Amino acid sequence: LTWAKNLAKTELHAHINGSIGMPDLRKLADLKGVHLPAEIALPGSAGFSLDDVFALFSKTIYSVVRDAQALQFVVEHVVAAFKRDGVRYLELRSTPKSLEGMDMDGYVSTVVSAISKAMSENETIRVKFLLSVDRRHDPETASTIVSLAIKYANLFPSIVVGVDVCGNPACGGIKHLVPSLSRLKLDAPTLKLVIHFAEIETPPEEDELLTILSLNPDRLGHCTFVPDHIMATMRARKIPIEICLSSNVVGGTVNSFEAHHLKQLWDSGYPRECLILCTDDVGIFCSDLSNEYVIARRVLGVSREVMEEWAQLVCDKYAR
Ligand code: 5GP
Repeated sequence: LTWAKNLAKTELHAHINGSIGMPDLRKLADLKGVHLPAEIALPGSAGFSLDDVFALFSKTIYSVVRDAQALQFVVEHVVAAFKRDGVRYLELRSTPKSLEGMDMDGYVSTVVSAISKAMSENETIRVKFLLSVDRRHDPETASTIVSLAIKYANLFPSIVVGVDVCGNPACGGIKHLVPSLSRLKLDAPTLKLVIHFAEIETPPEEDELLTILSLNPDRLGHCTFVPDHIMATMRARKIPIEICLSSNVVGGTVNSFEAHHLKQLWDSGYPRECLILCTDDVGIFCSDLSNEYVIARRVLGVSREVMEEWAQLVCDKYAR
């Protein structure tokens, strides 16, 4: 693991509330006087699935992260943990929500100031922020989040860098979000649009995937169940893919690391700088980015030197 820890790594797909470690979450719960059950079902429990991941957010994590102070605690602890793991460039993402005493605008402002503070305390890491739209959001909420992204990118251009689309893929498609996402591309072309894509087997209709591609996303997350002809288009367009090995295997959408699509993409000649290892929710899947590099090396059967070159390619392309 030491070689992977020592790599200067780039993390591009990390949900803030999924990246807080359970011990830190418990510490925060104690501070806030919130009772957490002694046993929390985590990955590794029999039959753990992606739905259980979403239940963990709604039932456990959000019961603790309820106000500005808690959110600040989470951001600061998450940044410090990524720094300890040797991450030099980090893009965090989070869904603006109304918490106690704050609206969505206050949420974004709290994350931005917590990131600023965390960077001043952890000088070797640069941290950026993507605002997430949840696919269950109605068009109006999505539009508010896009407007907040544009507003805060104007105020803090060195921190706010784009918009993500996330949320439980079993809850339906994203066509209702298209007007807001198109507006982002028109009004703020320098901001990035990153979208969770073909994450579960139940068909995202082909039509839905083509709609997403028509938005010209800057990166796509997961890409587990992409039909071959669509993958061929992505490859021709060199669309970067955020690869979340442990998230997919532990979350149960992929049977094993050996069966993960990373290997197929790598062997097919998908441009290496467009394959980016990411943690997704390190607090839940309990695998830091160094460990993802170790797993990827095993699965791909390549040397440390190849892994080092790959990490460097990713860093050169994305760390701004
Ligand atoms: P937050 O946005 O509150 O900082 O982070 C948690 C949220 O990120 C979850 O409620 C969920 O919407 C999203 N999220 C976290 N992990 C995943 C994932 O693996 N897939 C998808 N589609 N969304 C996720």
